[in-house]
Amino acid sequence: MISVAVGEETPPTPEAAPHIAVVGAGLAGLAAAIAVVDAGMQVTLYERAPRLGGATWSFQRNGRWFDNGQHVFMRCCSEYKTFLERLGVSHQVVQQPRLKVPVMRPGRPTAHIARISAPAPLHMAGSLLCYRPLSVGERMRAIRTALALRRLNLEDHSLDQQSFGSWLSARGESEGAIAGLWDLICLPTVNLRAHEASLALAAKVFRTGLLDAPDGADLGWTKVPLAVLHGEAAAAHITGCGGNVQMSAQVAAIGEGPCLTVGGEEVAVDAVILAVSHEVVDELLPSNTLPQQKALTNLGISPIFNVHFVFDRTVMDVPFTAVLDSPVQFVFDRSEAAAWKRPYNSEQVVAVSQSAAFGEIGDSPSELIERYYLGLVDLFPKVAEAEVLDAVVTREHGATFAGRPNTARLRPESATAMNGLFLAGAWTATGWPATMEGAVRSGNVAAQLAVQYCRRGEAHQSPKVESLRRERARA
Ligand SMILES: Cc1cc2nc3c(=O)[nH]c(=O)nc-3n(C[C@H](O)[C@H](O)[C@H](O)COP(=O)(O)OP(=O)(O)OC[C@H]3O[C@@H](n4cnc5c(N)ncnc54)[C@H](O)[C@@H]3O)c2cc1C
Repeated sequence: MISVAVGEETPPTPEAAPHIAVVGAGLAGLAAAIAVVDAGMQVTLYERAPRLGGATWSFQRNGRWFDNGQHVFMRCCSEYKTFLERLGVSHQVVQQPRLKVPVMRPGRPTAHIARISAPAPLHMAGSLLCYRPLSVGERMRAIRTALALRRLNLEDHSLDQQSFGSWLSARGESEGAIAGLWDLICLPTVNLRAHEASLALAAKVFRTGLLDAPDGADLGWTKVPLAVLHGEAAAAHITGCGGNVQMSAQVAAIGEGPCLTVGGEEVAVDAVILAVSHEVVDELLPSNTLPQQKALTNLGISPIFNVHFVFDRTVMDVPFTAVLDSPVQFVFDRSEAAAWKRPYNSEQVVAVSQSAAFGEIGDSPSELIERYYLGLVDLFPKVAEAEVLDAVVTREHGATFAGRPNTARLRPESATAMNGLFLAGAWTATGWPATMEGAVRSGNVAAQLAVQYCRRGEAHQSPKVESLRRERARA
């Protein structure tokens, strides 16, 4: 891990401070922009959308707030949590004191994946031994498999050459155990089922979250709309430190210098942090700026959709649950965030969250609402008695890159061959799947490199930048 130490040196005065442009205001760009202003440099953040937060956004409908998708983090997401602290919004998230995930199956008792207070990996052993969705033999095998996962060397590049599912099968895990246990964690974290996911990415999640430290997987989530937690708070911080935030500002190109074209004008800066999704990088950069620029689209995309229901009464009595033997994957009670800055009432806002939903993402909203309403009826009998006050579907076709085998080699490091250009984004070489933690880490690394680059005085040397500066000064 590269820690951000950019704030430790004496910041230059604002007038003399180098100017760093950050393109893209998802979590990677926001983290980068914050690290840059915290280091005392000038920043301009360009975002093509009329809002900040990228893949974490919210909207209002009939007075209630809805997030585009449920965003959960684990206690091991250290840089994301530091980011929230920096924004002063840590009090707006919940963190479980101890991991406990209910696993519901229609018509059957609820099982739990939970930890006890014991050193890793013993902290999970009791829960696995009692985990009813698996047979007794499958539970014993799962413990052996978890220990084998713990012995994997995460630095071993060959881990990325096979799927997590094939590795599990080779250890004798049945298809039932893969669906009933391993997919339950792989799906929401890698956004692929075990048979499609890279072993390297799945192992990273299981090791960092569940197997290396006892408290790594304690879950956290936001109590307020994501737009408030991330976008609003970050905008206030960046502008409060003298940074410039430009929304609805699509950067059309980035060139040597570095300079960028935005709103039909060329802007010369000392460094650029490009924090857009992997799908648009090639459109913005000169050909062959990155070694595998054209191949970035081979990282693929994996969809997530959410079906949000507003019921006139409480229908579920847990904050969230995983689900098996049902089309439903996860259900969250989002009433608190939905009622942000509104008086509470008796209604309940419930979100069904479906990851790697390749087969359903194209279905019509009415089909999805009907299918998942029936899924909820099977889980929570009170749903059948309740009135549905509102229902809405949010779809993210390219929610994340698809962390399949052989994708690690496509994920570039932050530093590039172009002077003054640095990359950020959850899809870059963070070692993490596409997560909020990965995005923030990538932004921190890019900011650290860009600030170091400017401090070393490597900026200001390009003749093109100097001539653009002179032109602008004359204009
Ligand atoms: C529905 C859903 C659920 C998720 N659930 C979880 C979860 O539970 N836990 C978790 O950790 N992660 C989750 N994720 C993943 C996580 O949200 C992402 O990995 C992370 O937010 C990506 O951040 P980013 O900054 O790398 O990219 P993005 O958020 O994609 O940001 C890129 C930004 O660049 C902007 N941009 C693009 N082109 C230009 C241009 N030319 N000029 C200017 N701006 C441009 C875009 O508008 C965008 O704002 C989820 C994602 C989705 C969609």
